[in-house]
Amino acid sequence: MAKPVNNLIDLLLNDNIKALKPYESARRLFSGAGNKQQVWLNANESPFANDFTIDAERFNRYPDCQPPAVIDAYAAYADIQPNQLLVSRGADEGIELLIRAFCTPGKDSVLICPPTYGMYAISAETCDVGIERAALNDDFSLNVDAIKAFKGKVNLVFICSPNNPTGTSVDKNQLLEVIEHFADSAIVVIDEAYIEFDKDNSWAAELTHYPNIAILRTLSKAFALAGLRCGFTLAQAPVIQALMKVIAPYPIPEPVAQIAAQALSSKGLVTLEQQVAVINQEKALLKSALAKFADVELVGDDKANFILFRTPQKSALMNHLVASGILIRDQSKQVNLDNCLRITVGNPEQNKQLLSEISRFFTLQTSTQEA
Ligand SMILES: *Cc1c(COP(=O)(O)O)cnc(C)c1O
Repeated sequence: MAKPVNNLIDLLLNDNIKALKPYESARRLFSGAGNKQQVWLNANESPFANDFTIDAERFNRYPDCQPPAVIDAYAAYADIQPNQLLVSRGADEGIELLIRAFCTPGKDSVLICPPTYGMYAISAETCDVGIERAALNDDFSLNVDAIKAFKGKVNLVFICSPNNPTGTSVDKNQLLEVIEHFADSAIVVIDEAYIEFDKDNSWAAELTHYPNIAILRTLSKAFALAGLRCGFTLAQAPVIQALMKVIAPYPIPEPVAQIAAQALSSKGLVTLEQQVAVINQEKALLKSALAKFADVELVGDDKANFILFRTPQKSALMNHLVASGILIRDQSKQVNLDNCLRITVGNPEQNKQLLSEISRFFTLQTSTQEA
């Protein structure tokens, strides 16, 4: 018998994969964190869990690749044509499909504008696609000149608006300048995962004018369906047809399609609107309460369902909250976000609990300092 190679996996593993670590998603970071009733304010999920029904009658059949009930309902919701839409396993799969369809491994690159969402870079890395960076300005606006300098060097430009984790919306004119500058050389991917909290700033209505934009959407945030794994890419038909070449044959499980269609029904959209209103109201309360702490500085803007803030006591506060069963997200490793923490807006009860723990933390700090 041949001697087994004890480093077989090292031998076979792609060079670009060797250095990677599994993505530290909010859920992975805390998956084993105790059995207490945890308050999850770390992944920008909705605090609302809505009811759905499932019909098992067709579970013996493969599902449609692009279930018409979902495509038609979302196209109507976004006010675009069905042939300008792709449904995928979350917006995250949309990111990966764009990279796989439009970037040649080992040769092409994408451009990202940090601080921003982590999956653009992760997907590029796993596909052996290069990553260029044009950091946002200090006020988190686009550094348009820095971005424009990458013309001819990148195939995709990822721009997140409202941006995670800064909560800032990208200025229309800045974005327009970028889209026009890359008109004959790159697709500008506008990530609108949080657009329901910033309704007036969607680019969906502009799709028909720009062959080089793609818009990412999701049911994971405002629609309260992160567990469903359902997202969308909006673009002109040629872009969608290119993505259809790389998507799996049956990407949307039948139960997912059924639930997505219910979420997009007129009743589902009423629920969406009500819940977005509650979150916006809670966000305003949370923001003004946080701003009152001497050691808290609000950072960025509030155009999504989360709040970013800076505190010199970042690590101690994070530890205190985790010990109290409240999970939030450390963003301090991102450029320009030293000492920054991100809090997802929860339901009224969770937000109250959060504020009372933060208050307790700062009171304890002060009494320790005075002692
Ligand atoms: C949450 C999030 C996504 C991922 O959405 P899924 O549909 O859950 O994959 C994409 N982009 C941004 C900016 C996000 O915050």
